[in-house]
Amino acid sequence: MSKVLVIGAGGVGSVAVHKMAMNPNIFSDIHLASRTVSKCEAIAESVKERTGVTIGTYAIDADDVEATSALIRSIGPELVVNLALPYQDLAIMDACLATGVNYMDTANYEPKDVAKFEYRWQWEYQDRFKEAGLMALLGSGFDPGVTSVFAMWLKKHKLKTIRTLDILDCNGGDHGQAFATNFNPEINIREVTAPARHWENGEFVETPAMGVKQSFDFEAVGPKNMYMMYHEELESLAKFIPEMERARFWMTFGDEYIKHLTVLQNVGMTRIDPVIYNGVEIVPLQFLKAVLPEPASLGPTTRGKTNIGDIATGEALDGSGEKTFYIKNICDHEDAYEETGNQAVSYTTGVPAMIGAAMMLTGAWKGEGVFNMEQFDPDPFMAMLNEHGLPWTCEELAEPLPF
Ligand code: NDP
Repeated sequence: MSKVLVIGAGGVGSVAVHKMAMNPNIFSDIHLASRTVSKCEAIAESVKERTGVTIGTYAIDADDVEATSALIRSIGPELVVNLALPYQDLAIMDACLATGVNYMDTANYEPKDVAKFEYRWQWEYQDRFKEAGLMALLGSGFDPGVTSVFAMWLKKHKLKTIRTLDILDCNGGDHGQAFATNFNPEINIREVTAPARHWENGEFVETPAMGVKQSFDFEAVGPKNMYMMYHEELESLAKFIPEMERARFWMTFGDEYIKHLTVLQNVGMTRIDPVIYNGVEIVPLQFLKAVLPEPASLGPTTRGKTNIGDIATGEALDGSGEKTFYIKNICDHEDAYEETGNQAVSYTTGVPAMIGAAMMLTGAWKGEGVFNMEQFDPDPFMAMLNEHGLPWTCEELAEPLPF
């Protein structure tokens, strides 16, 4: 029986709060704060309608550590779940330290002025959380999040060592728009326009953004082009699975998406440095976000499935030589929308956010300091994925990926 404060009322926050309300034995008292309080109120209304649970709503600017600390003190939660944007991570961690409350998020800190995806800033909080006797859990979404738990489950149950790891993220959903992003457009476009990086022989190798493309036949979706890109879990996976020779991350993009993005990039609309327009400083990418569809608005029209998983090759635990396993989840956009009012990209992030919070509140995962998903027993998390809407399968492949 625990009190939780969720910060961030976007698609991910909405799914997480709905799923928490569906598990009142773990989340007995739920509070939701965000910059725009009307978004919290709309989620609260939907939660009440769907589950009968009443949640508290508040306006907060989470960049303001004092104000966030005051809000945390007035609510008195056991855990703060940060589902705002990566820019707020450090401020919310500071507020948790100031108030003696545990912390969790789904994306690593990014400075606003440079697209750098690194855990270094948050790992620097290790001593402060440890000394305060508090726990911070980083990256409990799908990727990062479940993809790391999948890898650790394979290491526990199938493979003694992982030699190569490929994470394949496919969104086979169609939202009927010429160009839109499935989660926060600013964060999404910063991520896909950054240079690709993968782990190989003990170091990160950088290649141009969208420079490496492969076709892969995804179950329940069909053949898709996927592009190698950098994703933050590669950093924690390389740290916690040190024997890996190579780790790569792939994401599918349709030709239309690539065409629009290329034009936007060529004309400078994806720049993150400020420009002066009519005497006012604006950041082109932030302006672009303002004119693109809100990801939450895509829910009612999105059809199709997501398919996200890990393919790992390594020495089998049972001594039978080198083996390859493929572990994945397939999620249906329309089912996700029916259950929580949000499409599958928010659903596949919000459900693991609820599960990470449950791991902390039930004590299944506990510790003092700053932790990544790879550092805990994958089994209770994997069991909850099966029970709460993201069932997974694991199959042995005849051979490693051919590329
Ligand atoms: P949205 O943009 O839909 O929602 C973000 C919410 O945070 C909005 O309600 C926004 O308020 C609020 N917010 C922004 N700035 C502040 C602030 N200073 N103070 C308080 N609230 C603020 O994003 P998503 O729901 O799609 O994503 C949420 C998080 O999940 C992001 O960090 C994203 O990177 C991460 N994510 C992780 C994934 C994973 O698999 N690990 C996958 C997808 C997303 P307002 O409405 O007023 O702007």
